Amino acid sequence: YAGKTRDQLFAQRIRQMKVKDYKAVPVVMTEEASVYEAICNMFLEDVGTLYIVREGAILSGVCSRKDLLKSSMGKQDLNAVPVSVVMTRMPNIVTCFPEESLFDAASKIIQYQVDSLPVVKPAEKDSDQLEVVGRITKTTITKAFVELGEGRETV
Ligand code: ADP
Repeated sequence: YAGKTRDQLFAQRIRQMKVKDYKAVPVVMTEEASVYEAICNMFLEDVGTLYIVREGAILSGVCSRKDLLKSSMGKQDLNAVPVSVVMTRMPNIVTCFPEESLFDAASKIIQYQVDSLPVVKPAEKDSDQLEVVGRITKTTITKAFVELGEGRETV
């Protein structure tokens, strides 16, 4: 045990859990989609956050429930408002990488007070751009926590 306490070993075990092994499938829409379409999609796909992409999978923004609620409060025609107007934009998006620990992702969710983080990797065409490959949410973290408690982690 190399002099490690039980708690240190447990912390080490937790930090070995990687984002790539727990990430969920992202639900994405294009910048041109309307707020109305975004609301429908959020219900249909049963997610709390939509990722907005351009050129296939390049991360452009994040649209949460509250973003959609806020934009529905006025008298605008929701079919006429593009989701890109109400989303939070790059570079202000907090992301995580597949090789990062789930613990680091969970810490960012707490620190930045958001419900989810897009899992990204540098785009093949242009490494300055980020491509969305997954989603880490409070549900992901809760599932991992339950697995830990049951002593049956996936990895
Ligand atoms: P909700 O709005 O439903 O409470 P969040 O707490 O996730 O959901 O979102 C709060 C605000 O933060 C929203 O304006 C949303 O666009 C933005 N947001 C959500 N996720 C992220 C993220 N990963 N990085 C930056 N901003 C985000």
